[in-house]
Amino acid sequence: MNASLLEAKPSPAVGLRTRAHKFGGSSLADATRIRHVAGLLMAADEPGQVAVVSAMQGVTDALIALSEAAAGGRDWRPDWQVLQQRHEDTARALLGEQAADTLAWLRGQFEGLAGLLQAVSVLGSPGRPAFERIQGLGEVFSSRLLWAHLAARGATHALLDAREVLVVRHEELGVAVDWPRSRANLARWRDAHPQARVVATGFIASSEDGLSTVLGRNGSDYSGAIFAALFEAEELHIWTDVDGVLSADPRLVPEAVALPALSYREACELAYFGAKVIHPQTLTPAIARNLPVLIRNTFRPEHPGTRITADGGPGGPVKGLTLSPGLALVSLEGAGLIGVPGTAERVFAALHAARISVVMISQGSSEHSICCVVREGEAAAAAAALSRAFEREQAAGQVQGVQRIGGISVLAVVGDGMAGTPGVAARLFGALARARVNVRAIAQGASERNISVAVAAEDATRALRAAHAAFWLSAQTVALAVIGPGKVGGALLDQLDAAMPRLRRDAGLDLRLRVLADSRRAWLGEHGAAGDWRMHLAAAPAGDLDALAPHLLGAHLPHAVIVDCSASDTVAERYAGWLAAGIHVITPNKHAVAGPWPRRQAIEAACLAGGARLRYEATVGAGLPVIQTLRDLLDTGDQLVAVEGILSGTLAWLFNRYDGALPFSALVREAHALGYTEPDPREDLSGMDVARKLVILAREAGLALSLDQVQVESLVPEAMRGGPREQFMATWNNWTRHCTNA
Ligand code: ADP
Ligand code: ASP
Ligand code: MG
Repeated sequence: MNASLLEAKPSPAVGLRTRAHKFGGSSLADATRIRHVAGLLMAADEPGQVAVVSAMQGVTDALIALSEAAAGGRDWRPDWQVLQQRHEDTARALLGEQAADTLAWLRGQFEGLAGLLQAVSVLGSPGRPAFERIQGLGEVFSSRLLWAHLAARGATHALLDAREVLVVRHEELGVAVDWPRSRANLARWRDAHPQARVVATGFIASSEDGLSTVLGRNGSDYSGAIFAALFEAEELHIWTDVDGVLSADPRLVPEAVALPALSYREACELAYFGAKVIHPQTLTPAIARNLPVLIRNTFRPEHPGTRITADGGPGGPVKGLTLSPGLALVSLEGAGLIGVPGTAERVFAALHAARISVVMISQGSSEHSICCVVREGEAAAAAAALSRAFEREQAAGQVQGVQRIGGISVLAVVGDGMAGTPGVAARLFGALARARVNVRAIAQGASERNISVAVAAEDATRALRAAHAAFWLSAQTVALAVIGPGKVGGALLDQLDAAMPRLRRDAGLDLRLRVLADSRRAWLGEHGAAGDWRMHLAAAPAGDLDALAPHLLGAHLPHAVIVDCSASDTVAERYAGWLAAGIHVITPNKHAVAGPWPRRQAIEAACLAGGARLRYEATVGAGLPVIQTLRDLLDTGDQLVAVEGILSGTLAWLFNRYDGALPFSALVREAHALGYTEPDPREDLSGMDVARKLVILAREAGLALSLDQVQVESLVPEAMRGGPREQFMATWNNWTRHCTNA
């Protein structure tokens, strides 16, 4: 392709300083956006201009659906009508009083489409030529709308239907351009259309036998590069709805950042592995001519976007990440493969013969197994092909058979700077391990420009986000739930609210509050509540603890943490389940750590199983580092002889204040109002709160003590020990009043 490009003589009608632009469907979604695009084109300071356009957003999908409906014998007329209406409405909005010609033209086009659909429904199958013809009509419509609108605003663009110029062949590696024929066609077309500025259809072309064809989904980017080459443009600007190529798909990683520069090789890797922002073949014609490609945002033309050139420019070792879904692992395993030359070749040959394209291949150095990743829809055929190819070895027991695992996604980490930078893989795998992602297979190309990791589809988004955070493309992101926004929880939430910007800026920590629950209500949020958590909670529906973990994990953020600020035993019952699911728990609630010994053991086992941590420093001594200090002392060889202290701040406060002037019961009421007591003051007055602290410390010292082994003297009158908290508080208040009045 390079040779023919260089050999072909420049077309005489092409002037210097031409710039090519390609506008995606997202930039042409409706009349307002088309008007905006026309404005950009008219304002551009460039003598020569080629604007290659996609169909209006969603139109290609709609056309494909129409041909499938017709082929399936379903009624396609209503949707056809909707599509026609959308184009007519856009024409009216763009052209006003001058819309008549375009409307008549559109009607003719839609009659033609109806004729094609009618034929398809009679035949019962679209057949490739009819299917491709129908698919490509969206670009014919959109280019005409933009062109007519430009003309109405006084611009003098020529309108180029790519099928008149561009000739392509469908080959195994994609669509190849017949450059000599296309150049000759363009030169002829130019004779009749010498205008300096041109609007051209993207996506469509002619086959060698003159039939209408397409360049593959999202192929307008490729069209842009082809026309840039044909018109000898100096730059190609691909206009879309994001600020350029981002470090990851922004729909999966909201904190993805725009990359200022990429090399051709980096962009190719990202595109090939699924970064939808650019079609993988786009760069071939650009590389051949050393043509800079810029990815820019139609909605923010002042943003410089991403510049893709040969050397790419500076940046960290990793530039971007992609995720390819819908894949499967097919593997061949057996001692008979060890040291046998030609196994990989036979695997490839078998898959090639079955016309299956391999996304990724990996073989352990033991050569005991070889596995490849293929598209899910081709996995059964791939497994069958391998089974056949290794039939003899299977019969002889040298190969154990072929395994197939569906539901696989491949995460690819891309960057030129990875070559020769040690530690990139370690950082990636460390992040995946912390996010509890199980890696099924790994491949690194010898170019060291790409590390690919196969993971289960349900782990894929979490893996992507964890890897993104690990390379400092975004902060460490944590999904957070706070239970019990009372005195302690409320203060924590206010504190978080104030500290979050600083944590994000200075500590690279991004805490997303996704769940807020009290004993009756649960607020489940998507993007994290900032500021007005009280409002969220007030508006929250009734909810229970069951919904909490699924919602917290549903964001697929790399880490999930529950902060339990309740004083509830019911919540403590849930710890083991949460920890086993990999959710960290932080709590000042003593019930879990001081609760029944078997439950405490289950919690510890869950931590080990889930790789999650339980943090409970605040259960004893509030803000003082008592537990960690005790543990450090024990770890370094000290022995616990005795624990002395004022173990209850509440009781200390009460006894310090009590001088007989006020009844003791009134002081308790005051302490409760000030938030100095547990939610149920009986916990303090009965000594249970103190007992729990002692049990926690004793357990820290390795004693399997339980609460019933602690002797305490209760201050709660016998009659008030049972019953719910509300009832106790009411009785206590009456009692206080009675004592005060007496
Ligand atoms: P257009 O209609 O302009 O061709 P597309 O929808 O085909 O736009 O492609 C742009 C979209 O690609 C973006 O809106 C974004 O959601 C998605 N995308 C996926 N991966 C990336 C990435 N790495 N960088 C930028 N965008 C990406
Ligand atoms: N309209 C075509 C598609 O949706 C081509 C493109 O937009 O690039 O696939
Ligand atoms: Mg696109």
